[in-house]
Amino acid sequence: MRLCKTINEIGALIKSLRIENKTVGLVPTMGYLHEGHLTLVREARQCCDVVVMSIFVNPTQFGPKEDFGSYPRDLQRDSELAEEAGVDIIFAPEVEEMYPRGFRTSVDVEEITDVLCGAARPGHFRGVATVVTKLFNIVQPDMAFFGQKDYQQVLVIKGLVRDLNINVKIIDVPIARELDGLALSSRNVYLSKSEREAAKVLSRSLAKAQEQVANGVRDIEKIRELVLSEIESEPLARIDYVEIRSIPDLKDLKVLEDRALLALAVKFGNTRLIDNKVLEV
Ligand code: AMP
Repeated sequence: MRLCKTINEIGALIKSLRIENKTVGLVPTMGYLHEGHLTLVREARQCCDVVVMSIFVNPTQFGPKEDFGSYPRDLQRDSELAEEAGVDIIFAPEVEEMYPRGFRTSVDVEEITDVLCGAARPGHFRGVATVVTKLFNIVQPDMAFFGQKDYQQVLVIKGLVRDLNINVKIIDVPIARELDGLALSSRNVYLSKSEREAAKVLSRSLAKAQEQVANGVRDIEKIRELVLSEIESEPLARIDYVEIRSIPDLKDLKVLEDRALLALAVKFGNTRLIDNKVLEV
């Protein structure tokens, strides 16, 4: 496995792979790897000759009061896990490499970034869309792999690739969960023991919503109320949002027809967790 810290280094490597006609898969991450990231790597391994993982805690997608400074980082541990899972190249640039002095361009995907995490975290998706566009230009992958854990992010990236004619196939991969249902996240390490226990309410509430749908409930507000009351029954949970929206446009819905995205963000102490489920009739 190769570790590249600079754009020049990875650029040269990619150029030589292109000459050999190798297909390249990119797995963008912020590191502190867990099984969720590794499922993306395994998917990429199946589809591409060469797997590149980027590890970059991207400052532009964090708000001023968010956890950019304290976000967990451990490149040594990440390198070992990545190599074991089949990554060929890690691209782990410093902030100054990605955002040198004078940087002043950004990518804005409109409308679908006004809701859910876009409303709760202003500027977040501009940061995501900008860094992902840069990574696509730097690595020039044939395919890129993203987790459904960040469902809105997948929609934003599919939108930007389509709108800007970027020649990369976006593959989305199902959410990897702990045995008790909690979606894996680098931020789970922040949870105290009692918060970790309380956080099980998220996947439980999503499952209950799908149960309601299976029982014939189609009224969106009714399903949403059920999820809210389930989460509110957990004293350590503070709801940021619980919403049910159309796929792929993330519009308001009154009645569930075929499928819809149930997405939520909930804080436990200072830790904000997200989860979602595609409700299907
Ligand atoms: P992050 O390092 O949190 O920015 O995540 C990097 C990529 O891994 C994103 O595409 C995430 O959606 C994906 N990811 C994170 N957690 C999970 C999970 N539990 N299951 C599947 N994919 C995940």
